[in-house]
Amino acid sequence: MPARKAACVIGWPIGHSRSPLIHNYWIKLHGLDAEYRREAVSPEHFSDFITHLVERGYVGANVTVPHKETALAMSEPDDRARAVGAANTLWLDGGRLRSTNTDVEGFIGNLDATAPGWDRGLRCAFVLGAGGAARAVLFGLLERGVGRILLANRTAERAAALRTQFGDRVQPVRWGDLDALMPEAGLLVNTTSLGMAGQPPLTIDISHLPANAVVNDLVYVPLETALLAAARSRGLRTVDGLGMLLHQAVGGFERWFGMRPQVTEALRALVEADLISKKS
Ligand code: NAP
Repeated sequence: MPARKAACVIGWPIGHSRSPLIHNYWIKLHGLDAEYRREAVSPEHFSDFITHLVERGYVGANVTVPHKETALAMSEPDDRARAVGAANTLWLDGGRLRSTNTDVEGFIGNLDATAPGWDRGLRCAFVLGAGGAARAVLFGLLERGVGRILLANRTAERAAALRTQFGDRVQPVRWGDLDALMPEAGLLVNTTSLGMAGQPPLTIDISHLPANAVVNDLVYVPLETALLAAARSRGLRTVDGLGMLLHQAVGGFERWFGMRPQVTEALRALVEADLISKKS
Protein backbone atom coordinates (compact mmCIF):
# COMPACT_ATOMS: atom_id res chain seq x y z
CA MET A 1 0.00 0.00 0.00
CA PRO A 2 1.44 3.45 -0.89
CA ALA A 3 2.51 5.57 2.08
CA ARG A 4 0.18 8.31 3.29
CA LYS A 5 1.15 11.56 1.60
CA ALA A 6 1.58 14.74 3.58
CA ALA A 7 2.16 18.39 2.72
CA CYS A 8 2.21 21.50 4.89
CA VAL A 9 2.25 25.27 4.97
CA ILE A 10 5.37 26.78 6.50
CA GLY A 11 5.35 30.28 7.96
CA TRP A 12 6.21 32.35 11.03
CA PRO A 13 3.63 32.95 12.42
CA ILE A 14 1.29 30.51 10.69
CA GLY A 15 -1.92 30.45 12.75
CA HIS A 16 -3.80 32.74 10.33
CA SER A 17 -3.25 30.58 7.21
CA ARG A 18 -6.38 29.31 5.43
CA SER A 19 -4.39 26.75 3.44
CA PRO A 20 -5.11 23.83 5.86
CA LEU A 21 -8.84 24.55 5.61
CA ILE A 22 -8.69 24.51 1.79
CA HIS A 23 -6.43 21.47 1.29
CA ASN A 24 -8.02 19.31 3.99
CA TYR A 25 -11.43 20.06 2.48
CA TRP A 26 -10.23 18.67 -0.87
CA ILE A 27 -8.50 15.70 0.80
CA LYS A 28 -11.72 14.74 2.59
CA LEU A 29 -13.92 15.40 -0.45
CA HIS A 30 -11.85 13.04 -2.60
CA GLY A 31 -11.28 10.46 0.14
CA LEU A 32 -7.50 10.64 -0.21
CA ASP A 33 -5.13 9.03 2.26
CA ALA A 34 -3.32 12.32 2.77
CA GLU A 35 -2.80 15.10 5.25
CA TYR A 36 -2.02 18.83 5.17
CA ARG A 37 -0.55 20.49 8.27
CA ARG A 38 0.58 23.86 9.61
CA GLU A 39 4.28 24.21 10.43
CA ALA A 40 5.44 27.20 12.45
CA VAL A 41 9.11 27.52 11.51
CA SER A 42 11.26 30.51 12.49
CA PRO A 43 13.63 32.09 9.94
CA GLU A 44 16.72 30.56 11.60
CA HIS A 45 15.26 27.04 11.29
CA PHE A 46 13.77 27.35 7.81
CA SER A 47 16.80 26.10 5.80
CA ASP A 48 17.13 23.02 7.96
CA PHE A 49 13.40 22.33 7.74
CA ILE A 50 13.42 22.51 3.94
CA THR A 51 16.60 20.45 3.60
CA HIS A 52 14.94 17.65 5.59
CA LEU A 53 11.47 17.89 4.06
CA VAL A 54 11.49 14.22 2.97
CA GLU A 55 12.69 12.95 6.35
CA ARG A 56 9.86 14.91 7.92
CA GLY A 57 7.45 12.94 5.76
CA TYR A 58 6.47 15.65 3.29
CA VAL A 59 6.10 15.47 -0.49
CA GLY A 60 5.94 19.26 -0.70
CA ALA A 61 4.83 22.46 0.98
CA ASN A 62 3.35 25.89 0.71
CA VAL A 63 5.59 28.65 1.95
CA THR A 64 4.38 31.96 3.31
CA VAL A 65 5.71 35.07 5.06
CA PRO A 66 8.64 35.49 5.80
CA HIS A 67 10.14 32.52 3.92
CA LYS A 68 9.13 32.96 0.27
CA GLU A 69 12.40 34.52 -0.91
CA THR A 70 14.54 31.93 0.92
CA ALA A 71 12.39 29.16 -0.55
CA LEU A 72 13.11 30.56 -4.01
CA ALA A 73 16.85 30.58 -3.36
CA MET A 74 16.87 27.02 -1.96
CA SER A 75 14.90 25.40 -4.79
CA GLU A 76 14.77 25.06 -8.59
CA PRO A 77 12.20 27.74 -9.47
CA ASP A 78 10.11 27.91 -12.65
CA ASP A 79 9.71 31.13 -14.69
CA ARG A 80 6.78 32.31 -12.58
CA ALA A 81 8.57 32.05 -9.24
CA ARG A 82 11.65 33.69 -10.74
CA ALA A 83 9.63 36.61 -12.16
CA VAL A 84 7.71 37.15 -8.92
CA GLY A 85 10.95 36.85 -6.93
CA ALA A 86 9.32 34.50 -4.43
CA ALA A 87 8.26 30.83 -4.22
CA ASN A 88 5.03 29.87 -2.46
CA THR A 89 4.85 26.22 -3.52
CA LEU A 90 7.55 23.53 -3.24
CA TRP A 91 7.45 19.92 -4.40
CA LEU A 92 9.88 17.04 -4.63
CA ASP A 93 10.53 15.77 -8.13
CA GLY A 94 12.81 12.75 -7.84
CA GLY A 95 15.61 14.11 -5.70
CA ARG A 96 15.04 17.72 -6.84
CA LEU A 97 13.24 20.38 -4.82
CA ARG A 98 11.28 22.43 -7.35
CA SER A 99 9.21 25.57 -6.84
CA THR A 100 6.65 27.86 -8.41
CA ASN A 101 4.56 30.86 -7.48
CA THR A 102 0.89 29.92 -7.78
CA ASP A 103 -0.34 33.50 -7.25
CA VAL A 104 -0.04 33.92 -11.04
CA GLU A 105 -2.47 31.09 -11.82
CA GLY A 106 -4.57 32.07 -8.80
CA PHE A 107 -5.05 35.57 -10.17
CA ILE A 108 -5.77 34.47 -13.76
CA GLY A 109 -7.86 31.42 -12.73
CA ASN A 110 -10.04 33.60 -10.53
CA LEU A 111 -10.65 36.15 -13.29
CA ASP A 112 -11.47 33.38 -15.79
CA ALA A 113 -13.92 31.76 -13.36
CA THR A 114 -15.58 34.92 -12.02
CA ALA A 115 -15.56 37.28 -15.01
CA PRO A 116 -15.41 35.01 -18.09
CA GLY A 117 -14.27 36.87 -21.20
CA TRP A 118 -12.54 39.56 -19.09
CA ASP A 119 -9.62 39.64 -21.54
CA ARG A 120 -11.68 39.67 -24.75
CA GLY A 121 -10.67 42.82 -26.63
CA LEU A 122 -8.87 44.11 -23.53
CA ARG A 123 -6.28 46.63 -24.66
CA CYS A 124 -5.31 48.27 -21.41
CA ALA A 125 -5.29 47.23 -17.76
CA PHE A 126 -4.65 49.43 -14.73
CA VAL A 127 -2.66 47.92 -11.84
CA LEU A 128 -2.31 49.67 -8.48
CA GLY A 129 0.73 48.67 -6.42
CA ALA A 130 4.22 47.38 -7.16
CA GLY A 131 4.92 44.77 -4.46
CA GLY A 132 5.03 40.97 -4.62
CA ALA A 133 1.37 40.54 -5.58
CA ALA A 134 1.75 43.12 -8.37
CA ARG A 135 4.60 41.09 -9.90
CA ALA A 136 2.38 37.99 -10.03
CA VAL A 137 -0.42 40.07 -11.59
CA LEU A 138 1.87 41.63 -14.20
CA PHE A 139 3.30 38.24 -15.15
CA GLY A 140 -0.20 36.81 -15.58
CA LEU A 141 -1.52 39.77 -17.60
CA LEU A 142 1.49 39.83 -19.91
CA GLU A 143 1.33 36.06 -20.42
CA ARG A 144 -2.36 36.47 -21.36
CA GLY A 145 -1.36 39.00 -24.01
CA VAL A 146 -2.65 42.25 -22.48
CA GLY A 147 -1.00 44.91 -24.64
CA ARG A 148 -0.62 47.76 -22.20
CA ILE A 149 -0.55 47.88 -18.41
CA LEU A 150 -0.65 51.20 -16.58
CA LEU A 151 1.07 50.84 -13.22
CA ALA A 152 0.62 53.30 -10.35
CA ASN A 153 2.41 53.00 -7.03
CA ARG A 154 3.00 55.28 -4.05
CA THR A 155 6.76 54.75 -4.42
CA ALA A 156 7.38 55.59 -8.08
CA GLU A 157 10.82 53.92 -8.16
CA ARG A 158 9.28 50.50 -7.49
CA ALA A 159 6.92 50.89 -10.46
CA ALA A 160 9.85 51.98 -12.64
CA ALA A 161 11.78 48.88 -11.55
CA LEU A 162 8.90 46.69 -12.71
CA ARG A 163 8.99 48.30 -16.14
CA THR A 164 12.69 47.42 -16.32
CA GLN A 165 11.90 43.85 -15.26
CA PHE A 166 8.80 43.22 -17.39
CA GLY A 167 9.38 45.50 -20.41
CA ASP A 168 7.69 48.38 -22.21
CA ARG A 169 4.15 47.02 -22.10
CA VAL A 170 4.26 48.03 -18.42
CA GLN A 171 3.91 51.81 -18.21
CA PRO A 172 4.44 53.51 -14.83
CA VAL A 173 2.06 56.43 -14.26
CA ARG A 174 1.70 58.93 -11.44
CA TRP A 175 -0.85 58.22 -8.74
CA GLY A 176 -2.10 61.80 -9.28
CA ASP A 177 -2.99 60.96 -12.90
CA LEU A 178 -5.33 58.08 -12.02
CA ASP A 179 -8.54 60.00 -12.72
CA ALA A 180 -7.45 61.13 -16.17
CA LEU A 181 -6.31 57.64 -17.19
CA MET A 182 -9.31 55.65 -15.86
CA PRO A 183 -11.31 55.81 -19.14
CA GLU A 184 -8.57 53.79 -20.86
CA ALA A 185 -8.70 50.76 -18.56
CA GLY A 186 -10.89 47.71 -19.22
CA LEU A 187 -9.54 46.06 -16.07
CA LEU A 188 -8.57 47.63 -12.76
CA VAL A 189 -6.63 45.55 -10.22
CA ASN A 190 -5.79 46.69 -6.69
CA THR A 191 -2.67 44.88 -5.50
CA THR A 192 -1.88 47.35 -2.72
CA SER A 193 -2.74 46.59 0.88
CA LEU A 194 -4.95 49.72 0.95
CA GLY A 195 -8.50 48.87 1.95
CA MET A 196 -7.40 45.83 3.97
CA ALA A 197 -8.60 45.61 7.59
CA GLY A 198 -6.20 47.65 9.74
CA GLN A 199 -4.74 49.53 6.74
CA PRO A 200 -5.66 52.97 5.36
CA PRO A 201 -8.56 53.06 2.88
CA LEU A 202 -8.08 53.07 -0.89
CA THR A 203 -9.52 56.41 -1.95
CA ILE A 204 -9.80 56.50 -5.72
CA ASP A 205 -12.57 57.65 -8.00
CA ILE A 206 -13.68 54.94 -10.40
CA SER A 207 -16.52 56.91 -11.96
CA HIS A 208 -14.53 57.31 -15.19
CA LEU A 209 -13.86 53.60 -15.77
CA PRO A 210 -15.59 52.33 -18.94
CA ALA A 211 -19.02 50.74 -18.37
CA ASN A 212 -17.70 47.30 -19.40
CA ALA A 213 -14.66 47.40 -17.08
CA VAL A 214 -13.88 44.62 -14.60
CA VAL A 215 -12.65 45.58 -11.11
CA ASN A 216 -10.54 43.09 -9.14
CA ASP A 217 -9.40 43.70 -5.55
CA LEU A 218 -6.76 41.28 -4.23
CA VAL A 219 -7.60 42.29 -0.66
CA TYR A 220 -9.93 39.69 0.90
CA VAL A 221 -10.30 40.99 4.47
CA PRO A 222 -12.86 42.47 4.26
CA LEU A 223 -14.33 40.45 1.43
CA GLU A 224 -16.41 43.35 0.12
CA THR A 225 -13.91 46.22 0.01
CA ALA A 226 -14.94 49.82 -0.56
CA LEU A 227 -13.47 49.53 -4.08
CA LEU A 228 -15.64 46.54 -4.94
CA ALA A 229 -18.71 48.14 -3.36
CA ALA A 230 -18.19 51.28 -5.48
CA ALA A 231 -17.72 49.19 -8.62
CA ARG A 232 -20.82 47.13 -7.90
CA SER A 233 -22.91 50.22 -7.33
CA ARG A 234 -21.81 51.44 -10.76
CA GLY A 235 -22.90 48.10 -12.26
CA LEU A 236 -19.34 47.02 -13.14
CA ARG A 237 -18.26 43.38 -12.97
CA THR A 238 -16.31 42.70 -9.76
CA VAL A 239 -13.85 40.01 -8.71
CA ASP A 240 -12.78 39.63 -5.07
CA GLY A 241 -9.53 38.46 -3.49
CA LEU A 242 -10.88 35.29 -1.89
CA GLY A 243 -11.23 33.64 -5.30
CA MET A 244 -7.53 34.20 -5.98
CA LEU A 245 -6.62 32.64 -2.63
CA LEU A 246 -8.67 29.54 -3.51
CA HIS A 247 -7.45 29.25 -7.09
CA GLN A 248 -3.79 29.62 -6.10
CA ALA A 249 -4.12 26.47 -3.97
CA VAL A 250 -5.05 24.22 -6.91
CA GLY A 251 -1.54 23.87 -8.38
CA GLY A 252 0.12 22.72 -5.16
CA PHE A 253 -2.56 20.13 -4.43
CA GLU A 254 -2.24 18.72 -7.93
CA ARG A 255 1.54 18.42 -7.69
CA TRP A 256 1.54 16.77 -4.24
CA PHE A 257 -1.50 14.54 -4.38
CA GLY A 258 -1.79 13.79 -8.13
CA MET A 259 -5.27 15.16 -8.83
CA ARG A 260 -6.54 18.57 -9.85
CA PRO A 261 -9.20 19.82 -7.40
CA GLN A 262 -12.01 22.24 -8.22
CA VAL A 263 -12.77 25.59 -6.65
CA THR A 264 -16.47 25.28 -5.85
CA GLU A 265 -19.14 27.37 -4.16
CA ALA A 266 -19.06 24.95 -1.20
CA LEU A 267 -15.31 25.51 -0.67
CA ARG A 268 -15.77 29.24 -1.01
CA ALA A 269 -18.58 29.22 1.56
CA LEU A 270 -16.38 27.30 4.00
CA VAL A 271 -13.47 29.74 3.79
CA GLU A 272 -15.79 32.76 3.71
CA ALA A 273 -17.41 31.61 6.97
CA ASP A 274 -13.95 31.29 8.54
CA LEU A 275 -12.97 34.79 7.37
CA ILE A 276 -16.19 36.27 8.73
CA SER A 277 -15.89 34.50 12.10
CA LYS A 278 -12.26 35.57 12.62
CA LYS A 279 -12.41 38.97 10.85
CA SER A 280 -8.69 38.72 9.90
P1 NAP B 1 3.83 44.15 -0.52
O1 NAP B 1 4.84 43.44 -1.36
O2 NAP B 1 4.19 44.58 0.85
O3 NAP B 1 3.31 45.43 -1.35
C1 NAP B 1 2.41 46.34 -0.77
C2 NAP B 1 1.93 47.35 -1.81
O4 NAP B 1 0.94 48.21 -1.19
C3 NAP B 1 3.02 48.26 -2.35
O5 NAP B 1 2.74 48.62 -3.68
C4 NAP B 1 2.90 49.48 -1.41
O6 NAP B 1 3.39 50.69 -1.97
C5 NAP B 1 1.41 49.57 -1.28
N1 NAP B 1 1.03 50.28 -0.05
C6 NAP B 1 1.11 49.83 1.21
N2 NAP B 1 0.70 50.80 2.09
C7 NAP B 1 0.38 51.88 1.32
C8 NAP B 1 -0.10 53.19 1.61
N3 NAP B 1 -0.34 53.57 2.89
N4 NAP B 1 -0.35 54.05 0.60
C9 NAP B 1 -0.13 53.66 -0.69
N5 NAP B 1 0.35 52.44 -1.04
C10 NAP B 1 0.59 51.57 -0.04
O7 NAP B 1 2.53 43.25 -0.33
P2 NAP B 1 1.93 42.16 -1.35
O8 NAP B 1 2.44 40.82 -0.97
O9 NAP B 1 2.15 42.65 -2.74
O10 NAP B 1 0.38 42.17 -0.94
C11 NAP B 1 -0.43 43.28 -1.23
C12 NAP B 1 -1.90 42.98 -0.95
O11 NAP B 1 -2.36 41.93 -1.79
C13 NAP B 1 -2.19 42.54 0.49
O12 NAP B 1 -3.41 43.10 0.89
C14 NAP B 1 -2.33 41.03 0.38
O13 NAP B 1 -3.18 40.48 1.38
C15 NAP B 1 -2.98 40.92 -1.00
N6 NAP B 1 -2.73 39.61 -1.62
C16 NAP B 1 -3.82 38.82 -1.87
C17 NAP B 1 -3.63 37.59 -2.46
C18 NAP B 1 -4.83 36.74 -2.72
O14 NAP B 1 -4.68 35.52 -2.91
N7 NAP B 1 -6.01 37.32 -2.79
C19 NAP B 1 -2.36 37.16 -2.82
C20 NAP B 1 -1.27 37.99 -2.57
C21 NAP B 1 -1.47 39.23 -1.95
P3 NAP B 1 4.95 51.12 -1.76
O15 NAP B 1 5.74 50.36 -2.80
O16 NAP B 1 4.92 52.57 -1.98
O17 NAP B 1 5.31 50.72 -0.35
